[in-house]
Amino acid sequence: MINLETPRKFRPLIGQAHSVAREVLRPIARKYDSDTHERPRELDFLAAILDGMSDSGVGEGAGAAGAGAGGGGGGSPRDGATDPAATRNGSNLSTALSIMEMCWGDVGLLLSIPGQGLGNSAIAAVATPEQLAQYGGRWAAMAITEPEAGSDSASIRTTAVRDGDEYVLNGEKIYVTAGERAELVVVWATLDRAVGRAAIKSFIVERSNPGMRLDRLEHKLGIRASDTAAFTLSDCRVPASALLGSPEVSSKTGFSGVMQTFDNTRPLVAAMAVGCAKACLDFTREALEEAGVEVDYDRPALSQSAAAATFLAMEAEYDAARLLTMQAAWMADNRRPNSVQASIAKAKAGRTGTDIAFGCIELCGAVGISETHLLEKWARDVKILDIFEGTQQIQLLIIARQLLGRTSAQLK
Ligand SMILES: Cc1cc2nc3c(=O)[nH]c(=O)nc-3n(C[C@H](O)[C@H](O)[C@H](O)COP(=O)(O)OP(=O)(O)OC[C@H]3O[C@@H](n4cnc5c(N)ncnc54)[C@H](O)[C@@H]3O)c2cc1C
Repeated sequence: MINLETPRKFRPLIGQAHSVAREVLRPIARKYDSDTHERPRELDFLAAILDGMSDSGVGEGAGAAGAGAGGGGGGSPRDGATDPAATRNGSNLSTALSIMEMCWGDVGLLLSIPGQGLGNSAIAAVATPEQLAQYGGRWAAMAITEPEAGSDSASIRTTAVRDGDEYVLNGEKIYVTAGERAELVVVWATLDRAVGRAAIKSFIVERSNPGMRLDRLEHKLGIRASDTAAFTLSDCRVPASALLGSPEVSSKTGFSGVMQTFDNTRPLVAAMAVGCAKACLDFTREALEEAGVEVDYDRPALSQSAAAATFLAMEAEYDAARLLTMQAAWMADNRRPNSVQASIAKAKAGRTGTDIAFGCIELCGAVGISETHLLEKWARDVKILDIFEGTQQIQLLIIARQLLGRTSAQLK
């Protein structure tokens, strides 16, 4: 049975993440929004602290790298549970909860913390123990998207051809978050385009690999603190051991190996949206108080002012997004198939985050779009969370396929 309370054992972590968000991220949020492409050096120090927190066990799952397959990273029985074989609150849930707090501080900066890339989650999700030993602890970006393959990730064209003890990669990758700054890039490529999705595998490529050329960095609406890179792979050679998971091309397990990554990363992206939405709500609650608008939790919304009723409705949506996100992460910790819940959480949080940010701007009026405050920035930042790791429409499609028992060929 799922327990909807925040686990007691994670409260110190949540408190620390909130302090970091307030004391470290918020004060530099505007600076790196304006200075696009400048590396936030302050975060190197923060990465060292997060490493220390993880080593000590306090910060298990302090950043994106903490999430793992099946609750790796030391899940423990749920608070209050007497049966040790009962449900676990592990690193997926602790990571989601700490990401919510960090994104209350700043989403773009969270994505820029060394060692906390989405590629790290991919490695944690599908790497063998040997690969974990070799690549774990290093900063990894994730490169799936190509000029001709966005939502339809099964249609990627980047190829990987076996040559002795190496694979040779060729293709183009765009929109790679942390692609310039990370040490590693997890690249999706196909072993055989004729075979289709079963032949798609992910490969770990060192950023220093001469076969991987950085083409450009994007200028964006939001999360400007985070670098977004485009690459060309030209005869890029990687050791055969850089293929993540099994090299076997099987119609049963092939694509599921790489798709498993999304079951871990989508709840984390949902958590980012939840954190950003909370920042907007907290700001707006204070603005309403200053304006003399009382939000009364003991009276029905219809008997309160329109502003208070709107705020209450947004908070209810926020709670729903937060709980769905926790559920998806908790299921990953407990080795329960969570693809549908991961997509539900991502769809709900992505849309809710955007709706809340713009709903708060409406309530706050001119203050909402002034650069004197961060609300206008959060509204710009949150939109990407409804796009990357699968857009709103794609999440709904995935949910519909699973609920209706249709394949991707039957429902597109
Ligand atoms: C700032 C940023 C960072 C990113 N970071 C990464 C990263 O680190 N790694 C990575 O690999 N990618 C990354 N991406 C890419 C991102 O995942 C893609 O942009 C996303 O998957 C959508 O692909 P697309 O932009 O090609 O849009 P398209 O796939 O061309 O879609 C365009 C529109 O059509 C809709 N649509 C498409 N197909 C369907 C359908 N079948 N039914 C209904 N509607 C549909 C989509 O929802 C969308 O609204 C990033 C993108 C941005 C902007």
